[in-house]
Amino acid sequence: MFSKILIANRGEIACRVIDTCRRIGVSTVAVYSDADRTARHVAMADEAVHIGGSAPKDSYLRGDAIIAAAKATGARAIHPGYGFLSENPDFVDAVEKAGLVFIGPSSSAIRAMGLKDAAKKLMEEAGVPVVPGYHGDNQDPEHLAGAAEAIGYPVLIKAVAGGGGKGMRLVEREKEFANALDSARGEAQTAFGNPAVLIEKYIEKPRHIEVQVFGDGKRAVHLFERDCSLQRRHQKVIEEAPAPGMTEEMRAAMGQAAVRAAEAIGYRGAGTVEFIVDASEGLRPDRFWFMEMNTRLQVEHPVTEAITGVDLVEWQLRVTSGEPLTSRQEDLHLNGHAFEARLYAEDVPAGFLPATGTLTHLHFPEVARADTGVRAGDTISPWYDPMIAKIIVHGPTRAIALSKLAAALEETEVAGSVTNLSFLNALARHEGFRAGDVDTGLIARELVALTEAAAPSLAVRALAALGAAGLAEGGGAMTGFTLWQPLRRTVTLDGLGAVVEALAPGRARVTIGDETADCALRNDVWWVNDRPSGARIVLTPATVSIFGPGAYHFGLIDPLARQSAGMASGVTVSPMPGLVKAVYVRAGEHVSAGDRLAVLEAMKMEHTLTATRDGTVAEVLVEAGAQVEAGAALVRLEEEAAA
Ligand code: ADP
Repeated sequence: MFSKILIANRGEIACRVIDTCRRIGVSTVAVYSDADRTARHVAMADEAVHIGGSAPKDSYLRGDAIIAAAKATGARAIHPGYGFLSENPDFVDAVEKAGLVFIGPSSSAIRAMGLKDAAKKLMEEAGVPVVPGYHGDNQDPEHLAGAAEAIGYPVLIKAVAGGGGKGMRLVEREKEFANALDSARGEAQTAFGNPAVLIEKYIEKPRHIEVQVFGDGKRAVHLFERDCSLQRRHQKVIEEAPAPGMTEEMRAAMGQAAVRAAEAIGYRGAGTVEFIVDASEGLRPDRFWFMEMNTRLQVEHPVTEAITGVDLVEWQLRVTSGEPLTSRQEDLHLNGHAFEARLYAEDVPAGFLPATGTLTHLHFPEVARADTGVRAGDTISPWYDPMIAKIIVHGPTRAIALSKLAAALEETEVAGSVTNLSFLNALARHEGFRAGDVDTGLIARELVALTEAAAPSLAVRALAALGAAGLAEGGGAMTGFTLWQPLRRTVTLDGLGAVVEALAPGRARVTIGDETADCALRNDVWWVNDRPSGARIVLTPATVSIFGPGAYHFGLIDPLARQSAGMASGVTVSPMPGLVKAVYVRAGEHVSAGDRLAVLEAMKMEHTLTATRDGTVAEVLVEAGAQVEAGAALVRLEEEAAA
């Protein structure tokens, strides 16, 4: 076993790797960027090395700086986590050339799976079922159109170098094919510098089921499947293991196919073979097809750990330090059911917009495993993925595990940033999900209900108003030496105006528009209109947060700030730090409310900024290519003529 390793990553995965290292007596070296000087992973590691600026390209993607840090600290091996350099075969080669060990597969295994067309070809040869389609070299548009016709519509065009859904187009009819091909190629060229595509049969209402594999370079085993069908724009939201409705026959077929895939490339370490499944007639062994293999530890690996009792990071360290894989397939057993929910700093009603903020208050549930890279007081910065934590639960049955997930989410508290907690809560209670009736389109179809269910109830709004009025503790019988006094106050919160009347200690009436809420504090529980709310009120300098069930944040409004924002309403500002990708308007041009002004790329997503009113552009203050701070003025409209 290694005595010391370096972790070339940050956030929750760096912390999770350090956890295992501590348990098995391996020393750890963290690396960090400017933005991460005081991050949790830096505090947890035995040593830490600063490797550069906040932008990933200046730090976590700098293979040379990372290798130098390992050599300087005497670390023998490098764990890449996921993302960043984890699937970069050139980095693997450089690590090995420097005489160090890469805790992951060989560069040739990564290369074999790097391009979708080559990977599909390889899998076909290894006898692994692949999605029916064309993945040949002939990129002539006529030939591709002919291939689509032969496969039968609807078809999916995919960039062979694709990832993150880029360069992917669904084509329903023949006459749409030529245009879709053009735009898929254009996007693929921009994103990956490679315009080549493949054509696949489009599976309707598919499920995403993936198999965890583990190899020592010679032999591989599988650690059962995970169902990751709950996705939003191809991003996983809640994952579970095993897959609901899985049969022994189908599990054996998928597991064997995944092991064949891993052994075909001499796979070493933890990997995931992703399959797309047509479950329109239940799970059938002839209805799953290889999509791609991820040659690294996956974000959702904890659900597999929960049902198998295996620590996958420990296994990674053992095989890469030279131990053979000791477990045989028949030694591995599946126990119970597990779920993982990804808790993000994001604004769900605003279209899942990534958010930032300082986490003034943070509480994770006792009943769950919480994998996190942050502590209370830490900041979710705009530089990296805005994940706050993964909440993982395990139970003897799916129903029990799902109830535990709902309870764990209810117990989770984050203030200081908006989060997707209410959305996760609604999802954990969704009937179809409860019944195990999942597919990759579920969230998109149910989006309105799932976000509406997350809208704050009267009780939540009333308690927020109480918090803003300073009555979160019920007002107490005495405040210092002053006796309790009746009070009537108008409070204004972001999106909420209310009148709060304190009637007696621990009793108040809140009026919001034409709704009234009688609030009473009984044995530390707030009752609203004679029902226990189960909610907790948490005050931070800038917000009132209400937790359980769901999480709601109301900004405490400074009336002066609002007025000045109103006066400057002709100025479009950057909502977060980012890169200006495009500017669509010029000075003197007339725009209508809703017209796009510019596109900002921030936190791995593109955000279109639109005009908030009609007007004439007075000034364009940035150019495409500029890096801007949050709040930077981008476009100014001429003052509106006074009415
Ligand atoms: P990327 O590498 O760009 O993320 P994938 O090939 O992994 O693309 O596919 C991403 C997602 O797109 C899958 O999880 C699935 O939801 C959907 N998808 C992929 N292939 C198909 C298909 N043939 N039919 C229907 N949906 C598909």
